[in-house]
Amino acid sequence: MKNIVTYGGGTQSTAMILMALNKEFGLSRPDFGVYADTGCEPEFINEYVNYFINYVKNIYDFDIYKIMHREGLDQHILTPPISSRNGNFYTSSTPPFYTKSPTGKVGMLMRQCTSDYKIKPLRKLINSKFKRGEPYIKWIGISFDERSRMRISTEKKIINFYPLVENFIRRNQSIEYVIKQGLKPPQRSSCYFCPFHSNNYWQWLRKYHNKEFQKAVEFEIQTQNLIQTQDLIFLHSSCKPLSEVEFINKNQLSAFPELIDECAGECGI
Ligand code: SF4
Repeated sequence: MKNIVTYGGGTQSTAMILMALNKEFGLSRPDFGVYADTGCEPEFINEYVNYFINYVKNIYDFDIYKIMHREGLDQHILTPPISSRNGNFYTSSTPPFYTKSPTGKVGMLMRQCTSDYKIKPLRKLINSKFKRGEPYIKWIGISFDERSRMRISTEKKIINFYPLVENFIRRNQSIEYVIKQGLKPPQRSSCYFCPFHSNNYWQWLRKYHNKEFQKAVEFEIQTQNLIQTQDLIFLHSSCKPLSEVEFINKNQLSAFPELIDECAGECGI
C-alpha cells in the first residue's frame, strides 16, 4: 500500500519527514509528501516551507507537492461570491471565529476552513496521483504530547498513521531532531489570523512578526463589517478587538480549544 505524508509546514511534520527519510525508528521512506497551502500562512512559514521542500528534494530526492484551494482563505472570506439572482452573498469556509451576541453571550462559529482548505485539497491532490479507490496510508505529524488529536479515518480506503505518537516522540524532541540535522528550526504553522492561537502565540507574533499581527488586526476589522450574523465576530476569546487585547496568560482552562500546534495537514484540533 502507498504511504503519503502530510506536511503542515511546522515543527512536527518537518521532523516526521526527516525521520522517515533517515529511516529512524524503523520508518520506511513514504512515496511522496503533500502540503495544503491556505494562502494565509505568515511569510516566515512560507519561506520555511519552500526551504524545506527544496531541501528534501536536493538531499533525498523526495517530492512534496503543494496545492492551494482557490484564492486563499482570507481573500475568500473578504470577497464572498455574490449571487447574480438577488445580490446576496454568504460566507463559507469560515474559521472558528469567536462571536459576541447583543446580550453579551460569547460563542464560536463552526469551523469549516480545515475541511475546505486542508482536507479536501489534499484528498484531491492524492487522488490525482492514484487509481480510483486505491487505498493508502496517510502519515500525520502529531507528537506524543498531542495524542488526543489522533483520529480514526472516516474513509475506508485511508489508514491514518501517527509515527511520532507511535514512537513516543514529544514536540521538543522533534525540534531538537530537526536542528541536529543541520536545518533551521521550524515554527508553529497556522493562518496568521487563526482564532485558535493561544495568548502566548499572539504575544510572540506581535513582538517578533508585527507585520503579520497587524494583518490579523486589519483582517478582524474587515470581517466584522462583512460577515452577516447578528453577533459581532472576533479573533480572540475575550471578544475585544485584537489591537486592544492584553494577552494575559492566566493559565486557566478555557471553554474553547486552542491551537496546540501547527495546523498539521489537517488542523486536527
Ligand atoms: S490554521 Fe486555523 S484558520 Fe487556518 S485552516 Fe487551520 S483552523 Fe482554519
